[in-house]
This record gives sequence, structure tokens and C-alpha cells, in this order.
Amino acid sequence: MGLFSRHKPKIKVQSTKKDGYSGWVKCTHCNEMIHANELEQNLHCCPKCNYHYRLSGAQRIELIADRGTFKELFTEYRSTDPLHFVDTEPYADRLKNAQKKTGRDEAIYVGTCAIDGKETALAVLDFSFMGGSMGSVVGEKLTLLIEHALAHELPLVIVSASGGARMQESALSLMQMAKTSAALAKLGEKGLPYLSVLTNPTTGGITASFASLGDVIIAEPDALIGFAGSRVVEQTIRQKLPPGAQRSEFLLEKGMIDCIVIRHQLKQKISQFLEFLTDNERAYREPVSGNVLYGQSLEKLPQKLKELMALANHSN
Ligand SMILES: [Zn+2]
Repeated sequence: MGLFSRHKPKIKVQSTKKDGYSGWVKCTHCNEMIHANELEQNLHCCPKCNYHYRLSGAQRIELIADRGTFKELFTEYRSTDPLHFVDTEPYADRLKNAQKKTGRDEAIYVGTCAIDGKETALAVLDFSFMGGSMGSVVGEKLTLLIEHALAHELPLVIVSASGGARMQESALSLMQMAKTSAALAKLGEKGLPYLSVLTNPTTGGITASFASLGDVIIAEPDALIGFAGSRVVEQTIRQKLPPGAQRSEFLLEKGMIDCIVIRHQLKQKISQFLEFLTDNERAYREPVSGNVLYGQSLEKLPQKLKELMALANHSN
């Protein structure tokens, strides 16, 4: 995952007392001093420059799901090491260390929750566990969640924060790209909406599979989003990339994502899209009378969705 760690600000603690932590931290983005409490209350966005610091999986669930409604599913799966892979350290040891560090078994949470009261299937990648990388278990849990959404007719939200496929599982991890994409295709055939939320960073095999397949693709501001790292791209095409080429704002301009939503509005916007897509999109595919929001005729729905995306952006 070394390729994707180029721009990874960490909060540095600057102590003012001899006995240690004063609570003041220096924003690595704007260099202003901010208080840790203030940062936490501000959803881990810098109060001075609005830089969006990374959230843990648990914090992300707290942000999006209605309080106490998240029920985790498919917790019984454990990664194995079928290739007995060793790089600078054995994969089996890396897994154990990540489990010890995070208190989690794997790099993903999958489950159901309510979002403003609407029952939703939710998956959240956790970057702190081996860079949120997708091995067989992450791919399997995601696929099981998508199948659960299909069986129970639930909309799906996936929040990505990942360096890509898990190289220690080689082709087994690459196969998860096809598996999750095939499951999402079935969800689409059934007219169930899928919102993909891209956070910093979303790269590699995650960008190249489920993260780019959302009916609506939402990104947080200034998130690194790409396939290969910029140096690899530059060496391959022998050209300099334009500034910010792998950031949310550039990708929005080029039409790769639908909207950029600040963290303070993320839940509200997800909720609006879910409401619109569950009540209108399905009505659009399978016309049912009296099931139309916003007083629009069904023919106008795709246009209405575009307007909703634009509106999500404007309120930034
Ligand atoms: Zn700042």
C-alpha cells in the first residue's frame, strides 16, 4: 500500500506542559493550532481549514447510522493464509498485528442500520486495518451483504477507505473485484439503489470495482481517489499529471463522481438520495401509481436526480 500513502496527514501532538498532553494539536494541512476536543466535536474536520481527517470504521458508522441501529452481520468469517505469503513479514503475522491494533477481525464492517429511519444495508471499510485492503473475507462479507440487501429489498450504502486489493492474497483478492461487481449488477437489475461514498483514500482495486459502480457516487472533499499512484501513472504514460488529478474536485469536474459532500452534511445527503431513489427510481422502473415524490412525472426522474446531485454540491 506504500504507493498510496504519499498524502496522509497525521495529527501531531505538541505538548505545552512537561507532564505531557495538553490537548492542543497542530493541523497538518494548515499548520494552525487546534484543540483535540474541538476537532472531535467538529467530526474530525479542521475547524480552521475544514481538512477532513480520516475516521475509523466505528466513527463512520456513528456518523451515518441512526444511533444504536447498526447490526453487524456475517462476523464469523476469518482470513486464512492459503499462499503462506511472506513479504517483509509473514501475512499471518500482519493479520494478527492488525487484529491486535484495531480489535477487529477484518478491514470491513457490514450490517444493517436505519438512516433517518430508513432501513439500509451498510458497509464501511476500515483503513486502520491493513489499509482497508480487500482480501477474500472482505470481498465475501461485501458480497453476502449485497445478497442480503437483494433478499430483503434494502438500499445499499458502501463507504470506502482503502488502498486496494490485498496483495498478500494475490489473485484470490483480485477475484473479489469481479465477485462484488457481479453481485452489484444483480442489485441493479432488481432496481435497488446503491450509493458509493468515497473517502480519503480510495484507490487500487476498490476504485476499479465496487466503489465506482454506485448509482450515485459521493466523495468527501479533497479525497485521494485513483487506481494507480500518481508516480506509477506518470512513469507509464510519460507525462506529468495535472495538479490535483486524483482528488475529488478534479474528478467531479471530469464527471467521474457525482457530487462532493462535506462531512457535516453527509448523512443528510445520503438520506435524501436514498429517499429519492427508493421511492422514485423503483417507481420509474416498475410504475406504481401514487408513489412519486416531488410532484414530478416519472419521465422526468433522471433529470430530477441530476438536479439533486447538483444541489448536494451547491450547498457546500
Ligand atoms: Zn487545518
